Amino acid sequence: MIYLDNAATTSPKPQSVIRDVTNALKYYSANPGRGGHTPSIKAAEAVYKTRTAVKDLFRVSSEENVIFTSGCTHSLNTVIKGVLKKGDHVVISSMEHNAVLRPLHRLKEKGMIDYTIARVTPGDNDATVNAFRDAINSKTRLIVCTHASNVFGTILPVERICALAHAYGILFCLDAAQSAGVIPIDLSENAYDFVCCAGHKGLYGPTGIGLLLVNSDVLLDPLTEGGTGSDSVNPSMPDFYPDRLESGTLNITGICGLGAGIRFVNHHGIDKIYRHESRLIQRLYHELSSISDVELYTADPKTIPFAPVLSFNIKDCESEKVSEYLNRRYGVAVRAGLHCAPLAHRMMGTLDRGTVRIAPSIFTTDQEIQTLKIAIKNFSYNS
Ligand code: PMP
Repeated sequence: MIYLDNAATTSPKPQSVIRDVTNALKYYSANPGRGGHTPSIKAAEAVYKTRTAVKDLFRVSSEENVIFTSGCTHSLNTVIKGVLKKGDHVVISSMEHNAVLRPLHRLKEKGMIDYTIARVTPGDNDATVNAFRDAINSKTRLIVCTHASNVFGTILPVERICALAHAYGILFCLDAAQSAGVIPIDLSENAYDFVCCAGHKGLYGPTGIGLLLVNSDVLLDPLTEGGTGSDSVNPSMPDFYPDRLESGTLNITGICGLGAGIRFVNHHGIDKIYRHESRLIQRLYHELSSISDVELYTADPKTIPFAPVLSFNIKDCESEKVSEYLNRRYGVAVRAGLHCAPLAHRMMGTLDRGTVRIAPSIFTTDQEIQTLKIAIKNFSYNS
């Protein structure tokens, strides 16, 4: 199997992740912070070790501001529903994932809030920032923006959009689902108020684990309430992080696996991972440009910064048909369709049939990209 669906979740997982998940099940099957016994203390230490690794990777101000969630969707919902009050307005980009659009849309349907979609102009950051500026109004409380499109790899000018937000007294939330572990994020330099990450993509952890990094004094309303092992006499959730946002028994196996994933990323280095994956995408883009029936949607990735994700179609063909062919005939795993990002497809004119998406990882080889190219070249409408 040639796995090129790493924007959905990375696979394979590093051996160290598999080992640490197994060890967590063997040795840390206890509830951290809920007991004074040795297994509980060991579990708490293991959780703290990962919290520290996350803090160091993203240079978060303290371990307390590292919140474990079940994934980036959970993190984004926590910020959106934890910040917004009746009458608020939100600005998002035209490349947001449904993990941003759907919670906002529901709040809008309930008559709580309103939101505006700012159009991204790939390759023209001034135009993109201006679109955000035009979308802001006196009620705007939050901007949520993806760091990189999960469909087209477009990197958004998020530092400038964050500065714009702050100039208007607006909070800024970064959706780093596709960038964490691939593009550096340094909260000692970047003023993003909230950063939402998936633990299972570029950080190589298992599925079911995500991160919310808080870089602001704002005390979010919790999305879920329950036991935290702290301040238990209080019928309200604690007013301090991370406990305020971490109710219920933590996902110890996921957290230990994420810790190993982060050590794996540190070992290779984010810059090296980015260089490897983007070289493969540049090569593939170049190869696909020479196949007449292939439609590409972005500028040459050599000419513009991008996240290592490439979307294409074959003329007059459903994207699902191409992915089914690649899987059946060549054992190549790619994703087709809308990738849960209808806004991005509407913008690029691919809403009707979606795209075939290629996303390499540090494990992807030149030979695998070569096989993919041959497979695409050999595609015929009767395949
Ligand atoms: N935002 C973006 C840009 C994504 O690509 C994804 C995952 N496809 C998410 C949010 C949701 O992440 P998760 O699956 O970890 O909840």
